[in-house]
Amino acid sequence: LFIVFEGGEGAGKSTQVQQLADALRKIGRDVVVTHEPGATPVGSRIRSLVLDRPQESGEVVTPKAEALLYAADRAHHVASVVRPALNRGAVVISDRYVDSSLAYQGAGRTLPVEEVSWLSKWATGGLKPDLVVLLDLEPSVGLARAVDRGDADRLESESLAFHERVRYAFLDLASADPSRYLVLDATNSVDALAAGVLQRVRHLMPG
Ligand code: C5P
Repeated sequence: LFIVFEGGEGAGKSTQVQQLADALRKIGRDVVVTHEPGATPVGSRIRSLVLDRPQESGEVVTPKAEALLYAADRAHHVASVVRPALNRGAVVISDRYVDSSLAYQGAGRTLPVEEVSWLSKWATGGLKPDLVVLLDLEPSVGLARAVDRGDADRLESESLAFHERVRYAFLDLASADPSRYLVLDATNSVDALAAGVLQRVRHLMPG
């Protein structure tokens, strides 16, 4: 079972990933928690190339290079972490996956979404999640939460319009394939969100 959490900045993905992992471990499931970008040693070097800004040289990664770097991280992540865990029967929970690229590199940076989608398909060999939990939040609220956490420099380098495009791209992806998505209002309490996620995940589990 492959479950992905998506959402904009400050939506509370990592808290919910942890809540679900704890709940599934309590009922005896083998759970692998992972994230993108940067879950592997190679990936963490890629992550710092795309996210540590400004680069020492002052250079900004161009949009196509950024899309390729996220795809490289994803290819390596899927082959070395996600597929091996799924093959041994573990539940894999990932904080971000393909939809983040469609939303950030596609809608956000305005690269053609079909091209970004094709790149991810190639990188992953077409591996799709069984469920995507989208934690939806107004960007102004999420950004304020994320900035409080100390990500101010990087986050403030993008406009509110960028984050709004990202939000609506996630929502569009969810409405195009409702059976694979659970969209939750991220202003709800941690406990209420966790209960909603667990209820949906239980339906997907045999036995
Ligand atoms: O989820 P996390 O906070 O670790 O993501 C780090 C940042 O990477 C996010 O703020 C997001 O802006 C960026 N990102 C991106 N494109 C992706 C994945 C993440 O721009 N495909």
